[in-house]
Amino acid sequence: MNRELYGSLIFEHSCKGRRGFSLPRNPYKHVELPEKLRRSQPLDLPEVDEPTVVRHYTNSSNNNFGVDTGFYPLGSCTMKYNPKINDEMAADPVISRLHPLQPVSTTQGALEIYYTLQQALSEIGGMAEFTLNPFAGAHGELTGLMTIHAYHDSRSDWARTKVIVPDSAHGTNPASAAVCGYKIVEVKSLPDGTVDVDDLKSKLGPDIAAVMMTNPNTVGMFEKHIPEIAEAVHACGALMYYDGANLNPMLGVCRPGDMGFDVMHINLHKTFSTPHGGGGPGSGPIGVRKGLEQFLPNPRVVKLADGTFDVVCEDSALGRVSQWLGNFAVEIRALSYIMSLGSENLMMVGKLATLNANYIMQALRDLYLLPIEGPCKHEFVFDGLKDKSTGVTTLNVAKRLLDFGFHAPTIYFPLLFHESLMIEPTETETRETLDRFIAVMRQIAGEAASDPELVKSAPHLTPISHPDDTEAALHPLPTYRSLL
Ligand SMILES: *Cc1c(COP(=O)(O)O)cnc(C)c1O
Repeated sequence: MNRELYGSLIFEHSCKGRRGFSLPRNPYKHVELPEKLRRSQPLDLPEVDEPTVVRHYTNSSNNNFGVDTGFYPLGSCTMKYNPKINDEMAADPVISRLHPLQPVSTTQGALEIYYTLQQALSEIGGMAEFTLNPFAGAHGELTGLMTIHAYHDSRSDWARTKVIVPDSAHGTNPASAAVCGYKIVEVKSLPDGTVDVDDLKSKLGPDIAAVMMTNPNTVGMFEKHIPEIAEAVHACGALMYYDGANLNPMLGVCRPGDMGFDVMHINLHKTFSTPHGGGGPGSGPIGVRKGLEQFLPNPRVVKLADGTFDVVCEDSALGRVSQWLGNFAVEIRALSYIMSLGSENLMMVGKLATLNANYIMQALRDLYLLPIEGPCKHEFVFDGLKDKSTGVTTLNVAKRLLDFGFHAPTIYFPLLFHESLMIEPTETETRETLDRFIAVMRQIAGEAASDPELVKSAPHLTPISHPDDTEAALHPLPTYRSLL
């Protein structure tokens, strides 16, 4: 490993007395700080010259991997290419220099953008109204469940203390329901990856507040029985919650509202094109069907009879779930993405995402174990290599991919299979990129058979090869000093 380029810390370049800055001359009188306010020992800062600092951080940044540097087939997280026009829009000084406390008479344009996006998402989701206030998918789930709670409360229906969540659900679903004060009832999946409708129906009753579902679900399968499930859920007095974090495959094909869902969230940072990762930035708007609008959180943006916009707070609402009106820069990117595609091209997103995933699945299924038959939607799961005799695991395959300049797929999620390898190419990749990925995945399967050690000891070309994950988590060395 070249520590000079990759692994060094800025402290290691320190040289006593070296400076990378010069301070302006002090035009004021010299003042001595009182003794008791002064440090007893000099501050331990690296002493480095400017080129060293610039090269150190530029080289460190080159170790990063992102959608702008390579193919990133990370299932469930939707790491797709984000057109730069969206960033340009969000960075426009007209938008980026707004202050949230400006009077609404001076922010009409921003409110119109907010309102237009609200309307567009309502149309896309088949919902009556949307709020853009929540800051992430999980935050949207919590807000949505609070809305459902407020609805039951308004009918004095206090016996509903449980939420049904399928075992294939994203971990945030049961977590959000628990944070909202609900008990979780788990529903099993069938061998084909879809929810067991009979098991679900047997759990419905006057104690159920909502059923949370993801469609296509986390194994990329379309849940065909939603209308039947929705009917049973509504008959028992509960509501249907839709996790729309990954709306890609649905765009322009079908709408959660038409399937019978009452409340939903969308991850703008996944489906609607905001660069994300490492925890942000995000936005998780929620939508509700007609009759639930009054429970949405404050504040709301409304269009007045004279065509102007206002920010209002309703008494019936949940109260606030976020400061101001949510993550405005992410909202700008989403509207820019929707408007630059236009409804005609937006209709292609779901079809292309689905086509790309099926293309990879079919091209690799002779070498990788496909536990669920049938066409997938935007993503699918292999249960590791087909040939289990080589001892090469999903982790080994994922690490070997790094040697070829690809980001690894999601591994060991969902928990339904032992060797899950979850691939989501997204709609933004060219056929050539998909073909290159397929060729590399086939080459790795070949290596696993002919030279398993080569795959097990991968990656060979990255700055760091085999960090001890467990040791790093149990005994982290957070400072330079603790390394010495
Ligand atoms: C990403 C994701 C979430 C959570 O979204 P965050 O913005 O990370 O909180 C929820 N459900 C599904 C299916 C997801 O893929």
